[in-house]
Amino acid sequence: MNKDYYNTLGVDKNASQDEIKKAFRKKAHEYHPDKASGDESKFKEVNEAYQTLGNSQKKSQYDQFGSTFEQAQAGGGFANGFSGFSNGFSGGGVKVDFDDLGEMFGGIGDIFGFSGGSKSRRSQRGGDIQVALTIDFEEAVFGVEKEISLQKHIVCDHCNGNLAEPGTKIETCKTCNGTGRVTKIQRTILGNMQMQAVCDACGGEGKTYAQKCKKCHGKGIILDDSKIKIKIPAGIDNNETIRVSGHGEAGEGGATAGDLYIKVQVRESNKFQRDDYDIKSSVFISFTQAAMGDNINVETIDGDVKLKIPAGTQSSTIFKLRGKGINRLRSSGRGDHFMEIKVKIPDSLNRKQKQLLKELNL
Ligand SMILES: [Zn+2]
Ligand SMILES: [Zn+2]
Repeated sequence: MNKDYYNTLGVDKNASQDEIKKAFRKKAHEYHPDKASGDESKFKEVNEAYQTLGNSQKKSQYDQFGSTFEQAQAGGGFANGFSGFSNGFSGGGVKVDFDDLGEMFGGIGDIFGFSGGSKSRRSQRGGDIQVALTIDFEEAVFGVEKEISLQKHIVCDHCNGNLAEPGTKIETCKTCNGTGRVTKIQRTILGNMQMQAVCDACGGEGKTYAQKCKKCHGKGIILDDSKIKIKIPAGIDNNETIRVSGHGEAGEGGATAGDLYIKVQVRESNKFQRDDYDIKSSVFISFTQAAMGDNINVETIDGDVKLKIPAGTQSSTIFKLRGKGINRLRSSGRGDHFMEIKVKIPDSLNRKQKQLLKELNL
């Protein structure tokens, strides 16, 4: 599942944000689906790569964890990629494709008196799925791979998502010549606008079917039980959400699949408390150790380490074990471990001990 975003954009790992942006614009123009040289899947790949590399925080995360986690965290989706370059939308006489703009500019259609109903079936992206996943404290600290079972729509295995009963004919729609769209002139407050509307004859698919698939009834998707392996990155905290791109519901009629969101719940540890990327815990030492000093073993997430207790250590003193905390998810390095010393005062003394303590007169 790891993708080489640097390769997709044709930039080097040390490329500056400016260079990355330039490379993205060039590739996005080249592959834009409306162009003769267009290639929708490459266009999406370029967009996906830019979502990550175009953001220095996500870039460093990607450098650290690869695309699995990055895909999970990248905000928005395909449509957001459009913000990276001018789409030429402006009033008056321009060609406006509401299939594409509908999602980006929610509700703008209303200004011109069009309803949002012009979206073709083909552009109905599959739904997103949200699941909760509970993991142990240690699994969150060190990262873990988990398998998630869920029921969701997948591409129909009878027609392979092409909607036709196998062996029956699929023909190009005669009304729109297979484009799925027809051009209409619409009068608006900004003057005449030439707009693309969905072909009524084929519902925007550009194809007509002699017989639709019997298993999915021409939807191209079926409900099925799926298992997905998820890599949880080391350092994830309670209530953080991982987004796994394209693992939501499959879209009808071959549309893009939705995303899978995994909300991670982390069980508490009975040894350690977490505070951001730091760990807190406490250890009891004896009155004698506190007064005279000692070298003790204390437990960290890396196992036992030695801690020097200086003579005269007071109860509630906190020692910082640098770098013994949790992996920082969005930058490098680790947090610290704060170890609180608690001095145990003996709760029962025998006669001799009492006598000796009195003589010490502390
Ligand atoms: Zn089917
Ligand atoms: Zn048509």
